[in-house]
Amino acid sequence: MQDCIFCKIVRREIPAEIVYEDEGVMVFKDINPVAPVHLLVIPKKHIPTFFDLQEEDVSVLGRVQLAAARVAAKMNLEKGFRLVSNCREDAGQLVFHLHYHLLGGRPFGWPPG
Ligand code: 5GP
Ligand code: ZN
Repeated sequence: MQDCIFCKIVRREIPAEIVYEDEGVMVFKDINPVAPVHLLVIPKKHIPTFFDLQEEDVSVLGRVQLAAARVAAKMNLEKGFRLVSNCREDAGQLVFHLHYHLLGGRPFGWPPG
């Protein structure tokens, strides 16, 4: 999608610290980290929110989660991590290209605020 910031990162039109990439998935550092490890795990395909998911997206979302697990292991997050996705306004979604935040390196509270 032309004006989407994460699509621009996928197309390398704007820089990002990319830590993992495969055919359908990209993982890069969040520009405004809220934990010692704060990565964004995205499908390369532009999907705005969970409400836009189609049957054909099932396999790429599996790939997104597998990538998250592998990157977490590589980053020595054996103590645990949080994989969280904000969907629309009540959750505070700012970038409308579906993504998971991979957060680690410190304990997290529950429930989230
Ligand atoms: P959400 O949509 O789940 O609220 O969060 C979007 C996240 O994207 C934020 O944590 C924000 O810091 C991050 N972000 C926004 N713009 C950029 C960017 O241009 N580059 C990178 N690496 N992260 C970004
Ligand atoms: Zn996009």
